[in-house]
Amino acid sequence: MKIHEYQAKELLAAAGAAVPRGIVASSPAEAVAAFDQIGGKPVVLKAQIHAGGRGKGRFILARRASAGDKLSDFGGVKYLTKRDDVAAVAEVMFQYPLVTKQTGAEGQKVSKVLVQEAADIAREIYVGIVLDRAIGLPVLMACAEGGVEIEEVAAKSPEKILKAVIDPDAGLHLYQARRLAFELGFTGDQIAQAEKIVIALASVYLDKDCSLAEINPLVVTPKGEVVVLDAKITFDDNALFRHPDMETQRDEGEENPADLRAAKAGLTYIALNGTIGCLVNGAGLAMSTMDIIKYHGGEPANFLDVGGGVTPEGAIEAFRIILDDPKVKGVLVNIFGGIAKCDLVAEALVKAGREVGFKVPVVVRLEGTNVDKARVILDSARKELPTMQSATDLTDAAKKVVAAAKG
Ligand code: GDP
Ligand code: MG
Repeated sequence: MKIHEYQAKELLAAAGAAVPRGIVASSPAEAVAAFDQIGGKPVVLKAQIHAGGRGKGRFILARRASAGDKLSDFGGVKYLTKRDDVAAVAEVMFQYPLVTKQTGAEGQKVSKVLVQEAADIAREIYVGIVLDRAIGLPVLMACAEGGVEIEEVAAKSPEKILKAVIDPDAGLHLYQARRLAFELGFTGDQIAQAEKIVIALASVYLDKDCSLAEINPLVVTPKGEVVVLDAKITFDDNALFRHPDMETQRDEGEENPADLRAAKAGLTYIALNGTIGCLVNGAGLAMSTMDIIKYHGGEPANFLDVGGGVTPEGAIEAFRIILDDPKVKGVLVNIFGGIAKCDLVAEALVKAGREVGFKVPVVVRLEGTNVDKARVILDSARKELPTMQSATDLTDAAKKVVAAAKG
């Protein structure tokens, strides 16, 4: 689960990091009021969307089929000094979708704008923590060249990225923070300021079970203050149950509708780019189902694990989610009847077919307890659900669904 920049900054500030003064606005009028409250000093208006690259993004003012879209001449991060300009820019930010490298071509609607007291910048630095899966530990990465895309630095000059492995029990040690501060070129009392911020970042990452906690840029002002200018935090969904307070920070408007529906139904769903929808029970079986589809020349449209106990409600919702995707040209149902017996699964499938309507070919491969009873149920539903067909084994199923999706 991702949260907005202003929420990430609240968490960091609570952990002791220096964050510029900011007020969240939900309308242009509130943005102007925030500007006044900050005292008429220069501010930065920051469109709050989960996608990154807002500064270089553009608002889509009008869609034009032939001439290309009409775009704003500023992005989702705009430095302003005048009250009238705050009103005009906020008007655009709240009205039009913001498109960045990470949003997709449609862009993202903005419903909150952070009005932040502008900082003067002498230097921009990158600091971020992610899980290093190879060593199974969180790793703090830092780079004296912040603000720019860190992926680019990592690809072109990986030696510029400094690293510190974090002990999840002890947290980031003070000596690690100090060494990083030195290596990043901080001097004098900036060292203590920088230490405080990276320690805050590490404690938020660990305390809140994050999968990503990033400050980009961390800036040094000409006066020598070290402040968090932009922050991004992602929580590990599997640990969210330990943080019910964080659930209130969710912004459903930012989430993929299919992902949301799947999460509510207790399904594990990941959208992919192919044409074959998969409905499988068990993550391991889902992985091998995708492998065999690819082996036979097809491309999976999703990963969907309905879990051990397949219920009619779960199957119906799963089909709704899969068939809502216009890319799907065929569906492979691959279920091993163990906890849920095959005949019950077959009944659930027939019920789903009646409710949802199978508008594309659906190939069913069932194996396990009561599979013979299940075959009888599927056979007797053949007339009613003509696009549904049974497969004798997994290879047969994969070949049939790949052929169906191509035809
Ligand atoms: P992002 O593009 O979504 O990563 O948004 P950021 O908050 O990182 O802003 C992008 C860039 O805008 C930063 O790298 C800065 O160069 C600039 N910027 C953001 N806030 C300020 C500010 O307070 N003062 C100045 N001078 N520049 C800012
Ligand atoms: Mg940034």
